[in-house]
Amino acid sequence: PKSVSFLGLGAMGHHMAKHLVGQFETVMVWNRSFDKAEAHAKEFGTQAVNLQQAVTADVIFSCLPTSNVVDEVIEQALPHLSANSVWVDCTSGVPDQAKASQAKLKAIGCEFLDAPVSGQTSGADSGTLTVMIGGSAEALAYAKPAIECFAGLIVHVGDSGAGFAVKAVNNTLFAINAWAAAEGLSVLKAHGVNPSDALACINKASGQSFATLATFPDRIVNRAFPKTFTIDLMAKDCGIAIDLQTEKQVPAPVMAQVSSLVRAASNQHEPGSADFSEFAKFYEMMSGLDIT
Ligand code: NDP
Repeated sequence: PKSVSFLGLGAMGHHMAKHLVGQFETVMVWNRSFDKAEAHAKEFGTQAVNLQQAVTADVIFSCLPTSNVVDEVIEQALPHLSANSVWVDCTSGVPDQAKASQAKLKAIGCEFLDAPVSGQTSGADSGTLTVMIGGSAEALAYAKPAIECFAGLIVHVGDSGAGFAVKAVNNTLFAINAWAAAEGLSVLKAHGVNPSDALACINKASGQSFATLATFPDRIVNRAFPKTFTIDLMAKDCGIAIDLQTEKQVPAPVMAQVSSLVRAASNQHEPGSADFSEFAKFYEMMSGLDIT
């Protein structure tokens, strides 16, 4: 590809797009609030353009809150897409909506890959994200040099929708681990064990998880709750996983229960206003105990 573009310069997209600079002849960015695109251009040397122009690129990235937003943007983009372009959607989205987008783009000679990412804003900043791809191998081969700019690992997990499915399950597993750690640390605290001492042991033992290694020390124990991944987005991801288990009648009671708890925690806040780690405050409210 000679030209690439990035749609959606939010907490993730802002960082992901900067890694494209210098790797392609043209690197365009678009954001709904256009001042963010202009600021990006100024800071990193990208070109801030309108949506119609952005979607003329050979490879188009999007990283937007939900598949519904992506669908709206695709509708506006359709008349302006170049033939043979590949749309790489890094949103954590809905598998069925990926399949529909792939069909829509295929009908005009383009391709759509679902390419959600894991690694948080820090991984986006360092360009070391894990990217889970669903869609055609040919489209992936074409877009790969662009995806590699912000990836530490790229795995083609299946046909259209498979990437979104892996991402939804991944985030639900993370939520389960985080919720379980809140319970475990509370039990220990009730027995007089300091949470940091407990984490020091657990993080060198078999009970460790990303939640105990990173989320608790970096966000919860220090009461910082920095807003980098909002809890409404986490609740959305868990909801996608629940729809997947329901569709295939797979019993998954732990996923279902924790997803519902994350939804309840998310409902305490306006969308976009609280980090996912604030689930711990909801658990504290339920239990009547302080975790830390
Ligand atoms: P943010 O809320 O920080 O950014 C959202 C972006 O989408 C902004 O550019 C925003 O534009 C744009 N947007 C919102 N609504 C619309 C709309 N109706 N039309 C057009 N553009 C819109 O989200 P994140 O960057 O945190 O997340 C993006 C995706 O990545 C989500 O699916 C999330 O689940 C996933 N993700 C997030 C991670 C994280 O750590 N934050 C990690 C891995 C995946 P504007 O500036 O105008 O508001």
